[in-house]
Amino acid sequence: MNALTIKQLKKTYNNGFQALQGVDLEVESGDFFALLGPNGAGKSTLIGIISSLVNKTSGSVEVFGHDLDRETAQAKTCIGLVPQEINFNQFETVGNVVLNQAGFYGIPAKLAKQRTEKCLRQMDLWERRNSVSRRLSGGMKRRLMIARAMVHEPRLLILDEPTAGVDIEIRRAMWQMMAEVNQQGTTIILTTHYLEEAESLCRNIAIIDQGQIIKKAPMHQFLNSI
Ligand code: ADP
Ligand code: ADP
Repeated sequence: MNALTIKQLKKTYNNGFQALQGVDLEVESGDFFALLGPNGAGKSTLIGIISSLVNKTSGSVEVFGHDLDRETAQAKTCIGLVPQEINFNQFETVGNVVLNQAGFYGIPAKLAKQRTEKCLRQMDLWERRNSVSRRLSGGMKRRLMIARAMVHEPRLLILDEPTAGVDIEIRRAMWQMMAEVNQQGTTIILTTHYLEEAESLCRNIAIIDQGQIIKKAPMHQFLNSI
């Protein structure tokens, strides 16, 4: 089964700019998929549409067989999104950032606590659960973003440059954590500027440029072609 099936997806913003010009893309369930492309290529637009944050102009998107237009709620609960900008309430404790998200998904209190612990442990933040999130380092904040996005156990995790600005040691530790999440069965789509990051993590890769997928291949094949 496909985690994602996108057909002829187009987006024209209100100012007339065509950010996506007919994107076709399939991502298989269980994949660790890299979406690479220069600034302005359309990565955030594409992710925004998949996550129902941006309206598409035309075309279709299915998430685990749920059409985004006709089965919006089902499609949305399949997805955990980690956007680029840190957008949790920085005055909340680390634990509450995740717990509140569970509440947002209507997860019962006891289960919410269990899930919060699991996600925080997985991102190596459990010891910091009582810290005010503002006090975390940049790398910890990024991991908290991931922990929060996982609390409803999405089948598809979308990570928009999750390691941007994080130094190399922490980045490598995060790679290990992301690989584990994928090994446990979660499909991951990762956008990144670091080819090295995509190379070490991802099985398949697509290159987007000027609103079009210009290449899609298994990682080993892609690396042989550059
Ligand atoms: P939509 O077509 O999805 O309704 P809009 O064209 O109304 O989106 O723009 C949504 C928001 O993005 C607006 O607040 C706009 O100011 C902002 N925006 C406009 N141009 C850009 C740009 N080039 N990059 C990022 N954001 C932009
Ligand atoms: P990427 O994530 O690959 O950097 P984006 O999807 O953010 O690319 O942007 C793709 C193009 O669409 C860019 O040229 C950007 O300026 C433009 N764009 C993004 N958001 C808006 C908007 N709301 N209104 C108009 N243009 C936008």
